[in-house]
Amino acid sequence: MDRSARLMERAVRRMPGGVNSPVRAFRSVGGDPLFMERGEGSRIFDADGNAYTDYVMSYGPLILGHADGDVVREIKATAERGTTFGAPTELEVEMAELICSTVPSVDSVRMVNSGTEATMSAVRLARGFTGRDRILKFEGNYHGHGDALLVSAGSGVATLGLPDSPGVTEGAAADTAVLPYNDLDAVRELFGREGELFACIIVEPVGGNMGCVPPVEGYLEGLREVCDEYDAVLIFDEVMTGFRLAAGGAQERFGVTPDMTCLGKIVGGGLPVGAYGGKREIMDRLAPSGPVYQAGTLSGNPLAMAAGIATLKKTRGPGFYEKLDEIGMKWRAGINEAASAGDRPFQVNQIGSMVSLFFSDKPVTDFASAARTDTEAFASFFWHLISRGVYLAPSAYEAGFLAVVHSDDDLSHTFEAAREWFESDAGKAGS
Ligand SMILES: *Cc1c(COP(=O)(O)O)cnc(C)c1O
Repeated sequence: MDRSARLMERAVRRMPGGVNSPVRAFRSVGGDPLFMERGEGSRIFDADGNAYTDYVMSYGPLILGHADGDVVREIKATAERGTTFGAPTELEVEMAELICSTVPSVDSVRMVNSGTEATMSAVRLARGFTGRDRILKFEGNYHGHGDALLVSAGSGVATLGLPDSPGVTEGAAADTAVLPYNDLDAVRELFGREGELFACIIVEPVGGNMGCVPPVEGYLEGLREVCDEYDAVLIFDEVMTGFRLAAGGAQERFGVTPDMTCLGKIVGGGLPVGAYGGKREIMDRLAPSGPVYQAGTLSGNPLAMAAGIATLKKTRGPGFYEKLDEIGMKWRAGINEAASAGDRPFQVNQIGSMVSLFFSDKPVTDFASAARTDTEAFASFFWHLISRGVYLAPSAYEAGFLAVVHSDDDLSHTFEAAREWFESDAGKAGS
């Protein structure tokens, strides 16, 4: 038995499912998860010494790849001076200035410890600011595991939310409406009936938690118009897209400015961080300037700020996002070509450094079309790539993440491994 399997045996005895976050358990591809020991640039090494080209990148944070020298140096130097004070530090000011000067919608920002905390708090603030209770989210968009956001609903109809998990009360979910992603008419219809009851619309400006699903033409602009018309707060959840699709996130890339923005992942440079910010008049409603309460013992933690600042500074280097886009376009072309070697239907979605390969014969534009993909084929493809030293997220519904350190060699090896599968019996079986 290999070391990963032995570690998993120990883990399941003392941790629910053996993991601290569900997707890591490999349930949707079967088999035991690989325990990781070390990362370096685009590569990770498991507990048995196997090396992989990593397209998970910790589900988004590691846009510079693993163990970037500058990030590690800043974390070490900061740790030498003390790890937390519960008092303000200059690093927090520097981080806030960096975010506000980069993300178009943000005049003022509050640091927290995870993306979940950012979205929960943003929704609370939007409710406190508007004095309204209801919120609208979209099917297949993930905003962390806060009660009011852990809700989905059948497609097509505006329904009051039903809890997606035992333990979320009907009360917590009752004010959450859910509509299909990329369907502006459904939003107009709902708001036409009861728009003045809504505190906010929260949306992933590019869907990244049902695979990579970009917005259709005019969708984000339309949400902006609806929020303006009904005085609702437009919240972009840019926990995944922030500092990834452009320095200013999806809002810069698409030229649509929300009222509030949630950040996480890259902003922490691989340490646990989230942030939410927006227009001054909204942020000023937050304690201690205003009455809406939110606090955190470790919020703005020096180590996390140091890692985040070091990361954000590097993303501001010349041509950083052009280079990422170029890697993304190479990925799209290479995977397209590899998959075309078989006769199984497939779809490639890609924007910048967010990528997805879906086993489906129809374009994937929302949760319903993402859910139609062939997950058995994905599992087979996944394990073939593992055997060839390529690590994808262990689920058909996770986007892949490219980092600026993915080299042409990494990519061509990956395309070759993919092509082998598409040319094999398993790869042909779907036709
Ligand atoms: C990852 C993610 C979150 C949750 O962030 P955590 O740090 O895991 O709590 C929220 N929204 C989006 C869009 C995400 O991708």
